[in-house]
Amino acid sequence: MISLQQVSKRYALREGDFEAVKSVTLDIAEREIHGIIGESGAGKSTLLRMMNVLEPPDEGKVMVNGADLTQMSEIQLREARRSIGMIFQQFNLLHNRTVSGNVATPLELAGIPKKERALRVAECLRFVGLLDKADQYPAQLSGGQKQRVAIARALANHPRVLLCDEPTSSLDPKTTVEILEVLRHINETLGVTIAIVTHEMDVVKRICHTVSVMENGSITDTFALQGRSRDS
Ligand code: ADP
Ligand code: ADP
Repeated sequence: MISLQQVSKRYALREGDFEAVKSVTLDIAEREIHGIIGESGAGKSTLLRMMNVLEPPDEGKVMVNGADLTQMSEIQLREARRSIGMIFQQFNLLHNRTVSGNVATPLELAGIPKKERALRVAECLRFVGLLDKADQYPAQLSGGQKQRVAIARALANHPRVLLCDEPTSSLDPKTTVEILEVLRHINETLGVTIAIVTHEMDVVKRICHTVSVMENGSITDTFALQGRSRDS
């Protein structure tokens, strides 16, 4: 489903190039929840952002849904990204738009007609349990509710893949568990493949089927969690 083949990323710094991701190969199977764990600065976020070419790799291939994203034109890439949702630690909501407005944004960009858009917004908000907050603004919501809005927005275009960058790192332990259960529900009921970057082993243990450990730009270990592998 997601296949990174020898991807590398260098950042140009004043003192010379810094290689944040060093020739990483990683395969994530369809319907899998894959965790990428490691310390701050290990290159996890850069690796995740290469999965939708938000960060173009300097070398290597990025295959998602069978197509190589690094070979696409901007127009093709924009189309391909509709099937790849993404959520972030800081939620990245638009503060001047309502909850519905935030969820509607990717549908507007995709040119979905107004009637269909309203149906999809309602469907996604119902899925995350926030239909009653449709007309509120992000500032009126708790952290957990904001992340639910971000998840609803990421689901709006019915993606096959969901990329999560430290999705619970701004949340308290109880809210963390609630958000992880929403992600598990998305995986189990919608069949969405999920990649999660985190520095917390608890996150990985709770919902991941497989895990990669990242250190200094490389994956040093990949393993299945006992009883969680999709093949078992
Ligand atoms: P992690 O998500 O594991 O904390 P990142 O992928 O965010 O790691 O960063 C990996 C390394 O690359 C860090 O040393 C970071 O400082 C560096 N880095 C990340 N983004 C940039 C950038 N845009 N410019 C320069 N260096 C960057
Ligand atoms: P904003 O002020 O944030 O721009 P709008 O009222 O323009 O919000 O709504 C944005 C989008 O959300 C529109 O596409 C609309 O169809 C949809 N929408 C608005 N209210 C609801 C609702 N209660 N349920 C479902 N969809 C809604």
